[in-house]
Amino acid sequence: MTETDMLIIGGGIAGASTAYHLAQHGHDVTLLERGDIASEASGVNAGSIGAVGWGNAPDLEAYLTMGSLEIFQSLQLDLGYDIAFRQSGCLQAIHTEAQYAYTRDRVQHLQAHGYSVELLSSREARNIEPELNPALVGCMYMPLRAQADPKQATRACAAVATRSGARIRTQYAVTTVQQRSDDTYLVETSRDTFVAGILIIAAGAWCAEIGTWLGLRIPIKPVRGQMWATDQLPPRVFHTISSAESALDWHHAPRNDHETPPHLTHHVSVRRTRHLYGRQTRDGDIIFGGDRQLVGYNTVPDPAGIEVNHAHATEVLPLLSTLSIARTWAGLMPFSLDGAPLIGQIPQRRNLYIVSGLASSGFGRGPMAGKLLADAIHTGQPHPVLTEADPARCVTVAE
Ligand SMILES: Cc1cc2nc3c(=O)[nH]c(=O)nc-3n(C[C@H](O)[C@H](O)[C@H](O)COP(=O)(O)OP(=O)(O)OC[C@H]3O[C@@H](n4cnc5c(N)ncnc54)[C@H](O)[C@@H]3O)c2cc1C
Repeated sequence: MTETDMLIIGGGIAGASTAYHLAQHGHDVTLLERGDIASEASGVNAGSIGAVGWGNAPDLEAYLTMGSLEIFQSLQLDLGYDIAFRQSGCLQAIHTEAQYAYTRDRVQHLQAHGYSVELLSSREARNIEPELNPALVGCMYMPLRAQADPKQATRACAAVATRSGARIRTQYAVTTVQQRSDDTYLVETSRDTFVAGILIIAAGAWCAEIGTWLGLRIPIKPVRGQMWATDQLPPRVFHTISSAESALDWHHAPRNDHETPPHLTHHVSVRRTRHLYGRQTRDGDIIFGGDRQLVGYNTVPDPAGIEVNHAHATEVLPLLSTLSIARTWAGLMPFSLDGAPLIGQIPQRRNLYIVSGLASSGFGRGPMAGKLLADAIHTGQPHPVLTEADPARCVTVAE
């Protein structure tokens, strides 16, 4: 039986960053991961880091994105980890006049609130991304956005955690959790039993299962995201790339209900929109993805969806029509039913915390999500922006 003050379940970006920041505060912390660090969503994502600035009145989203950007920068520039970080900026392609009108209003709104975004003509966009389709109506430019290698970045967080004194245990599958009468937690794993004063659930798309062991309903759904890659080629794509098509469709119809998270590409098996994100990695692969579908814990890519996404990407970057798909893969994103993260204390049980619900942008927001939770546990005072992420709004006792 191993005793630890704080125990984290999950070695993705959320858990690794929480371990890093708790250890930096001097706490005795153990992280248990059933695979390797970054073996699920945090290792298979596109590596896009979203950020448009702090704005005039920073909210949770500004803290998560800009705070994470600073952590990525510090991992590479100050702490010496090669995470293939590059502040590349992002171009969001505008295909139609309707998308242009929507994006123009959005850019004006964001600029008025102090965010760093611009509306570019097609010609201006091609000055900085020459392979863009000249037929595009224009692009929204987000210069602060960045990219990094997801596996290397997540492993770097775990490495700093270890360097700061945390115990990172991989190949430890948690099989059950029990709260004891003294409000500590008994955590059984495939290899050993742990007793922890504080338990932190950072299990991504698997948080609901851990909730079940504690008699709680944690409403986080696994949403499949899938991607494809070309073979390596010399540098041709310099920014991260997205499309305004889904942004406009979701603006009109987010389509969430009591069982379905918002901002999915499919309703059951019917496609509602096309979503797109991608970039060229430092190794030279061009990678793209976009579909977000509720299919349980299925991580087999759907070839029809890959084809639609490839066609969408080719509308933005015509060079892709000549490049074949070398490989495909999929992973599970943790979506809450209202689309907002869950970061903080679970009120129904003492000494229980969660950091999850980071959905489709958890790589870019995970580092700061972990830091905000670690700071809240350390000080006992959650940062005011965490009100928006309070688990109390949706976690319930199971009937
Ligand atoms: C295809 C795809 C593309 C994406 N692209 C981007 C992108 O470009 N930018 C972006 O910001 N986000 C992106 N995302 C989303 C992002 O990857 C996720 O939001 C983020 O990685 C979630 O991190 P996490 O730590 O919460 O979960 P995970 O990375 O899934 O980590 C949870 C960990 O918990 C472990 N675990 C679960 N149960 C147990 C147990 N019982 N015992 C021990 N360990 C357990 C799992 O093994 C897993 O490693 C993408 C996701 C996918 C799938």
